[in-house]
This record gives sequence, structure tokens and C-alpha cells, in this order.
Amino acid sequence: MADPVTARRGLMLILTSPSGAGKSTLTRQLLQEETEIALSVSVTTRARRKDEIDGVHYHFVDRPAFERMREAGDLLEWAEVHGNCYGTPRKAVEDALSAGKDVLFDIDVAGVRQLAAMVREDMATVFLLPPSVAEQIARLKRRASDDDAAILKRLRTARDEIEHWADFDYILVNDDLGRAFTELKAILHAERLKQRRRPKLEALIAELGRDLDVILGN
Ligand code: 5GP
Repeated sequence: MADPVTARRGLMLILTSPSGAGKSTLTRQLLQEETEIALSVSVTTRARRKDEIDGVHYHFVDRPAFERMREAGDLLEWAEVHGNCYGTPRKAVEDALSAGKDVLFDIDVAGVRQLAAMVREDMATVFLLPPSVAEQIARLKRRASDDDAAILKRLRTARDEIEHWADFDYILVNDDLGRAFTELKAILHAERLKQRRRPKLEALIAELGRDLDVILGN
């Protein structure tokens, strides 16, 4: 039986950012260090990049397959980003949460809004910002996977996305990767202790109450 003190419902840790803020690096570090949280692997119609593995980074599907999943209600949320469709498979997330496992999401602002309308209680949302546009552009150029036109497109999207910063529970500014990582872990650890995620504690509270009543003669 699960330990009543630690047992809890899993949480959805959602990390969103404009392109070039360092989200992929932070995601990778968190998954490496925190073995109790798993990535929600999205489905996408985007072409696979050289360094990506099907089933690990994304489930790569064609548009008809994506449409079928969407129409069957198999996606918890979905969005179109830069001409490609992205969506969160519902079943993997629901199974993990009910088994008390935490799930990390790398999704865009539109996806966060859809999830918030359904499962706000299970979510902790984090918005990651670059410290400056100069740094953001430098990061996008270092990545070298996009040409100038693609970078400009990402910056246009970023312009719209930063307006939504106030919808998020936590804001991180990535001027120092080590510090941003420590802060992200602190958020995860604190969110795990939230009262509403720990219904099993009721048994412990009842026992403490009974024992105190005995000692106090109530
Ligand atoms: P990329 O093509 O660079 O991997 O991702 C482009 C954008 O799509 C990123 O902002 C990423 O967070 C977002 N994204 C990836 N998967 C999903 C998803 O399942 N749902 C939504 N709404 N956005 C996603």
C-alpha cells in the first residue's frame, strides 16, 4: 500500500516559453535529475529533426493521423504552431496522474489555456523568459537549426506569447541557467507538497487528532 504521508495525485508541471529562452536545456536537465517526473511526449506533424527520436521527443505523425486522433478525442489539447500541429495524447497523461506520477509538459501558450479550462487543479504553470532579446537571438542563432526567416517567425510568435506572462503561476528569467534550474526544481518540490494533491493525509490527520484527544483527555 502507498505510504499515506507521501502518496498523492500526480501533478502536471507545465514549462512554456518563447523560443530561445533555454527551455529545451532546462527540460533535459530536469528529466535527467528528477527521475520521478516523465515528459508528456506530444504528437506532431512537424518533420523530425536530425537529433530527435520518434517516441522520445515526439510521436511523429502525418496530418490525417493527427486529425483522426483529434476527432476521436485522443488529444487533451492541441495547437498549430508555425504551420505544424502539436497535441498532447490524453491517455498517457491520465494514466500517469492517477498512478501518482508527475508529468512535465513542453507546450505553447494556447495549449496551456486549453488545459487550464479542464484540469487547472492538477497544473503548475511556469513561464520562462530570456533575460534580453539580444540573448534570445544569440541562443536561436547558436541552435543553428533555423535560417534567418525562421528565426524572425519565432520572434514574431514570441512577441505575442510574452503578453500572456501574467496567466502563469511562476515566472523564471533565464539569465543564469544554474539558478533557473534550481528555481525550477524548487517549484516542482513545493508543488508536490500542495495540500490539494495529498488527500491521503486525511488518515494521518485523523490519527494525530485521536492521539492528541487521548493525551488531552478530550
Ligand atoms: P518545436 O517545433 O520547436 O519542437 O516546438 C514548437 C512549439 O510547439 C513549442 O513552443 C512547444 O512548446 C510547442 N508544443 C510542443 N508540443 C506541443 C503540444 O503537444 N501542444 C501544444 N499546445 N504545444 C506544443
